[in-house]
Amino acid sequence: MPVKNRYAELHAEITGWRRDFHTHPELLFEVHRTAAKVADLLRAFGCDEVVEGVGRTGVVGVIKGKTDTSGKVIGLRADMDALPIHETTGLEYASQTPGMMHACGHDGHTAMLLGAAKYLTETRNFDGTAVVVFQPAEEGGAGGLEMCQDGLMDRFGIQEIYGMHNTPGLPVGAFAIRPGALLASSDEFEIVVTGRGGHAAEPHRAVDTTLTASQIVVALQSVVSRNVDPLKRVVVTVGTFETDSEASNVIAHEAKLCGTVRTLDPECRELAEKRIHAIVQGTATAMGATAEITWTPGYPVTMNTPENTVYAADVARSISPDVDDNVNPILPAEDFSYMLEERPGAYIFLGNGDTPNCHHPAYNFDDEAIPFGSSWYSGMIEARMPPA
Ligand SMILES: [Zn+2]
Ligand SMILES: [Zn+2]
Repeated sequence: MPVKNRYAELHAEITGWRRDFHTHPELLFEVHRTAAKVADLLRAFGCDEVVEGVGRTGVVGVIKGKTDTSGKVIGLRADMDALPIHETTGLEYASQTPGMMHACGHDGHTAMLLGAAKYLTETRNFDGTAVVVFQPAEEGGAGGLEMCQDGLMDRFGIQEIYGMHNTPGLPVGAFAIRPGALLASSDEFEIVVTGRGGHAAEPHRAVDTTLTASQIVVALQSVVSRNVDPLKRVVVTVGTFETDSEASNVIAHEAKLCGTVRTLDPECRELAEKRIHAIVQGTATAMGATAEITWTPGYPVTMNTPENTVYAADVARSISPDVDDNVNPILPAEDFSYMLEERPGAYIFLGNGDTPNCHHPAYNFDDEAIPFGSSWYSGMIEARMPPA
């Protein structure tokens, strides 16, 4: 298709941006250099509007089509931030900042969306408005939420939104997507159990915090096995267990448990939170101790709108023969979920071939995936807003 021919010509240029971002990774909201370069390029392409500082360091570009009889506005999103990982690839364009690395391919996402923006400003072969969204802080900072709270959708009139993530292990040129839940929600909890410390030889004069916290750990596993519908997927993991006793002959006064809840179902997410509170309080009371829970909600379930998933898969099929439109969901979380809570849309996986997994110090984005990713982004605009 013609889109791909133009991207073959642009490939070296887009690869150059990608490798420059890779050399200069930045974390969370501190993506100042990256955001400035994105904004400069968008202005150089001739975007009709470029707005910086949306959601602190996010950048938004507006591209008007040749006509606007449809009145449609479609958003495309990429993420710009890197990870606190020390790169071990040994590449000539490897990170020059020790302890920071583009280990999730957001350098690739940003470069591919820039490529699509360049193509769309050149051709404008659509009837409506395209909005390209570059967000900070996907890796744990909820930059997507921050942009939404800064009015992203209403300010730019976005009606639908689409995003993409590269996937190691999926061949370059392949796409994978599914309607409904694609990635999990991720919440964290901290439980502090307080008993009465004492002498290990005189337990009857203490309230054993270690035993109480142990009962809680075991009882929490009944949430998945006894409360959740067995056809649904939930994970409850207690990751840390600490007490304030430092000797074998001391009964601890306080214990702290930290854990996470992952699920693909918003109802299960609520149920798990409710049950965890009940189990912790009930168990502590039964043992004569007290407990306090701090619940930290993380990213919601990434929920693809079924109708928009079909559009996204159709565009992928126009680019590639290798499209799985019913891929298994996965349990990492993704903050594009906040954007999908505000507008219909879809998130798609793009093959990144045979590289170590995302978040591995030897991971690398495969530049051969660029024409496919850029084609999909701009293809969504041309397909959803065909020329009048
Ligand atoms: Zn990541
Ligand atoms: Zn990522």
